[in-house]
Parts: sequence; structure tokens; C-alpha cells
Amino acid sequence: ARKRSGKNGVQLFDNNMVDIARKRLEIEKFIEQGLRDDWFTAHLQPIVCLSDGRVAGFEALMRLQHPERGLLPPAEIIGIAEENGSIGQIGDCILAKSIRSLSIISKLEGLADSYLAVNFSPLQFEPDLPARLAHLLLENGITPSRIVVEITEAVLMLDNPIVREVLDALSQLGCRIALDDFGTGYSSLSYLNRFPVDIVKIDQSFTRSLSSDQPDVRRKSRMLVEGIRTISHQMGCAVVAEGIETAEQWDILQAMDVEFGQGYLMSRPLPLDVLLEKLDEIRAAGAVERRAMAS
Ligand code: C2E
Ligand code: MG
Ligand code: MG
Ligand code: MG
Repeated sequence: ARKRSGKNGVQLFDNNMVDIARKRLEIEKFIEQGLRDDWFTAHLQPIVCLSDGRVAGFEALMRLQHPERGLLPPAEIIGIAEENGSIGQIGDCILAKSIRSLSIISKLEGLADSYLAVNFSPLQFEPDLPARLAHLLLENGITPSRIVVEITEAVLMLDNPIVREVLDALSQLGCRIALDDFGTGYSSLSYLNRFPVDIVKIDQSFTRSLSSDQPDVRRKSRMLVEGIRTISHQMGCAVVAEGIETAEQWDILQAMDVEFGQGYLMSRPLPLDVLLEKLDEIRAAGAVERRAMAS
């Protein structure tokens, strides 16, 4: 699309802007219809213990399954859903479905204690969230300690008393709080002190640079990850590394005493039925990794 400018140089019209507006309207329509016709699903990605490859938990990741367009990723949806107010309803749907999935997974051998991590938008932090979550957990026979509430610094940055109250209540209920995409936001460190954070998730950009082919990048990112790990552990938080795609990244992170990891190396986020089919394979691959490290 070519840009056209008005007489005084002010841009009056831009095909690209029309495209963006049209796309946005289309997504708003998908969201509305998706909520009505049950197109929203939660894919699950295993989170493994890096020392022994054991599957410790699963992160629920929102997908909109459009009958003709296929899967729409959250990046296309969340911003718009936050703006038009539909994120609450979408979030409720993801929460209900993923908790139901966890109760199914729990029946498998060795996964009775596995946890479920769910991403939350700041707009989902309404005063009745803890009570509604407690009810949902009771219905599904899941103890609150198996739920991890993932938030980003953006949530804490709001410095909103309701957010704080809800976080404290979720923590009181027994849920754990994870700080997602750690290291990419603004003033991360003070949040560990001011909020009930239990888990720090190291952003995938750090994991990627750990195995960069530039020695300088590798060295510096190692120092950053070591710094984040040290501070997190000293604050009593467990550490999860995101975006592990190679065995080398696993090895480096494990050698640095990062306890947990998730990434395409172990598994992509999968719909429940596919996950159930592949779980043995994923766990066996973890066992191979375990043997390789022992030898
Ligand atoms: P996130 O919570 O940091 O989730 C991790 C993202 O990294 C996911 O992208 C996941 O598919 C992707 N990922 C996992 N392993 C790898 C890997 O090895 N390599 C690479 N390149 N990527 C990997 P996804 O599913 O597209 O989600 C993007 C973001 O959307 C999430 O980032 C989260 O912030 C948000 N999100 C996802 N589901 C929900 C939801 O139900 N509610 C809300 N409010 N936000 C959500
Ligand atoms: Mg997350
Ligand atoms: Mg993340
Ligand atoms: Mg992320």
C-alpha cells in the first residue's frame, strides 16, 4: 500500500491503515463468534524439571480455532480483546477448559501433582476472581497449590490496589504466582520484593542468546541469567527458562542450576488429545536426556 500525503504533509489516507482497521474488525468478529460457538481452546505445553527431565507441569496457551482460518495465536487476539472488554470472558473460558484438562492429566501415572500455569491479563484481576477460581478448582478436584498464575510486569506496574488485593487473595488461597517474561520489562527487581511472587520465568530471548554463535553474546547472557537465577533463588523463587529449543540450551541452563524449562525441544503447546497421545514420548525423551547427563 502506498502512502499519500495531504497538501501540508499530513498523512490523510493510508491503505495500510485501512487494512489494519479491516483486520481488527475481522478479529473482533472472530472473538464474538468464537465465544458464542466455542472456538477458544487452551493448548498445553509441558514444563520439565531440567535435572531429571520429569514433567512437572503444563502452561495453558490460548488459541482460537477458526473453522476456516485455522488456529489464531494469542498475539492476534489479546490486545484487541483487552480493548473491547472480551478478555474477561475469554480468560474464564481458558481457565475452565485448562483446569478440566488438568483433572484428566492428573489420572496419568506420575502426574497427580503436576501443575497448571495460566496466563492472566491485568483486566482479569477482578475482586471475585479468587472465589470463582476456588469454586472451579473444587468442582474439578484440584488443589489450589497446583495452579500457577502467570502475570507480567505490566500487571504489577499498574500499581492498582485491586490487583494487589487479588494477587494476595490468590496467594492466600494457595496458588503460586509466576512473573512471566522476566528481564524484558521495566524495573523487575523491586516487584520480587513487593508482591507475593513464587516463580520467575526467564524470557526466551535470554535462552536464545545463551547459544548464540557470538561468544560475547553468549558470555553476557550467561551472566544475566546467572544474575537473575541468583536473585530469584535468594528471594525464595523457583526459576523456569522459556523457549528451550536445543539440547545445548538445556545443558547450559541445567549447569546453571535453573530448575525448570519449557520449549519446542521438549514439546510445542498441544491440544489435550494430542498431548495425551504424545506424553509417553515426551517423558521418554526426558529420560534419555537424564541418562545422557548421568553418563
Ligand atoms: P508467554 O506466556 O510468555 O508464553 C510463551 C510463548 O512462547 C507461547 O507463545 C509459546 O507457544 C511460545 N514458546 C514456547 N516454547 C517455545 C520455543 O521453544 N520457541 C519459541 N520461539 N516459542 C516458544 P504463544 O502461545 O503464541 O503465546 C504468546 C503470549 O500470549 C504468551 O506469552 C502470553 O503472554 C499470551 N497468552 C497466551 N495465552 C494466554 C491467555 O490465555 N491469556 C492471556 N491473558 N494471555 C495469554
Ligand atoms: Mg506465560
Ligand atoms: Mg513468557
Ligand atoms: Mg513471552
